[in-house]
Amino acid sequence: MLKKILIANRGEIAVRIVRACSEMGIRSVAIYTEPDRYALHVKRADESYSLGENPLEGYLDPVRLVNLAVETGCDAIHPGYGFLSENAKFARLCEQNGIIFIGPKASVIEKMGDKTAARDSMRKAGVPITPGSDGNLENIEEALTVAEEIGYPIMIKATSGGGGRGIRRCDTPAELKQQFPRVISEATKAFGSAEVFMEKCIVNPRHIEVQVLADSHGNVVHLYERDCSIQRRNQKLIEIAPSPQLTPEQRNYIGGLAVKATEAVGYENAGTVEFLLTGNQVYFMEMNTRIQVEHTITEQITGIDIVREQLRIAAGETLRYRQEDIHYRGFALQFRINAEDPKNDFLPSFGRITHYYAPGGPGVRVDTAIYTGYEIPPYFDSMCLKLVVWALDWEDAVDRGRRALDDMRLHGIKTTASYYQQILKHPDFRAGKFDTSFVAAHPELLTYSDKRHPTALALVLATAIAAHAGW
Ligand code: ADP
Ligand code: ADP
Ligand code: MG
Repeated sequence: MLKKILIANRGEIAVRIVRACSEMGIRSVAIYTEPDRYALHVKRADESYSLGENPLEGYLDPVRLVNLAVETGCDAIHPGYGFLSENAKFARLCEQNGIIFIGPKASVIEKMGDKTAARDSMRKAGVPITPGSDGNLENIEEALTVAEEIGYPIMIKATSGGGGRGIRRCDTPAELKQQFPRVISEATKAFGSAEVFMEKCIVNPRHIEVQVLADSHGNVVHLYERDCSIQRRNQKLIEIAPSPQLTPEQRNYIGGLAVKATEAVGYENAGTVEFLLTGNQVYFMEMNTRIQVEHTITEQITGIDIVREQLRIAAGETLRYRQEDIHYRGFALQFRINAEDPKNDFLPSFGRITHYYAPGGPGVRVDTAIYTGYEIPPYFDSMCLKLVVWALDWEDAVDRGRRALDDMRLHGIKTTASYYQQILKHPDFRAGKFDTSFVAAHPELLTYSDKRHPTALALVLATAIAAHAGW
């Protein structure tokens, strides 16, 4: 088993990885830049090292991180999500320096991290992909020709994109002419690559993704699916496992496709295969070659600790489950609580958390790195907490979500929590019927009153006064 791991990340996912290490008796090493000096992952890890003043540079410096891992006697690096997690050069540098990269081989990241290369591999493997361009688009003329062939609406997408950015829908040639250079400039700025490609736009699909685990001995299993259709501007807000809107046949079919995709590229470790579903038609969209933000809900329904499995796989162990050993129970929902103001076009709302009271009770899990008095730095993601609930059936899980959101107290910044309450009340959501157009189709859900129930407000005030008075 691994003995010591450097966590090349920050925030809640770094804390999540520290927790797995701690349970397995593995030493953890945290890194931080100046704005994160007082961050929870730094306090919680066994050792921590400063990477200097610049907020981002240290987290994105492959050479420095691999050197630090070697110097501190680590045998592995866990990259988390975002940052260097899908950077093949980083994975290769680890391999070259005798450090285990907790993820797939660099060559596999290359194959799947590039969305057009991934489409190619999937086509060859017989996994259905959306109609689209054959590789990247050279210029607008080529884009216009391909769009005529596949038919509007189309999507222009950044080849190395992620996090929902670098994607634009175009309904007409005029829109395509306008959006094409915009996606290129967005992709260059955000991902350092000007490459873009085209896909047919699947109108109002459901986003269904499958969690997979693959060991280094050729064994692959899936841990069923997540429904991430509740999105705003292609970014996930609420995720659900399993999808309340799949038939058992669809579930088996998609799970099988994900395993086929994983096997086809010689994948190792935990990964996610993302699909779009419309009617009975399933299309491969991309593979995320890392731990995902929403791995939590799969853990809740299957009981399998995905981060611990990642560490076991990286250590060369054989998967201890065959497909028939993996079962799921109930429903889990994850709410991404973002430091954003839903009433002000989701403008980021960074600053000091003056009061935080964690929700609890049956079926509630919180993954976060915040605490009362913590100041959310403006340099990173706005996601500050993941609230996860679980219950035996769909209606109960939704009610539990409502109750847990209500339990939570998070003051000092604006968050998306109250907006999620509105989504949970909507009859279509409660009926388990929604697709990726849900958020945009219901702008009225943003016009709620911010006032809490008077007694709840009084309680908050009393608590605040008590805290102030030092009771
Ligand atoms: P998930 O796929 O796990 O649901 P998200 O798409 O929400 O995750 O991304 C998680 C984090 O990783 C976000 O901070 C996002 O900006 C970042 N991220 C994802 N993909 C990329 C990428 N290709 N390049 C840079 N950052 C990325
Ligand atoms: P990212 O790497 O940023 O996660 P994805 O390729 O996974 O990008 O797409 C993110 C989201 O954008 C999807 O969940 C979906 O809602 C939307 N999307 C992407 N491609 C298409 C498409 N061809 N048709 C319709 N929606 C799409
Ligand atoms: Mg995606």
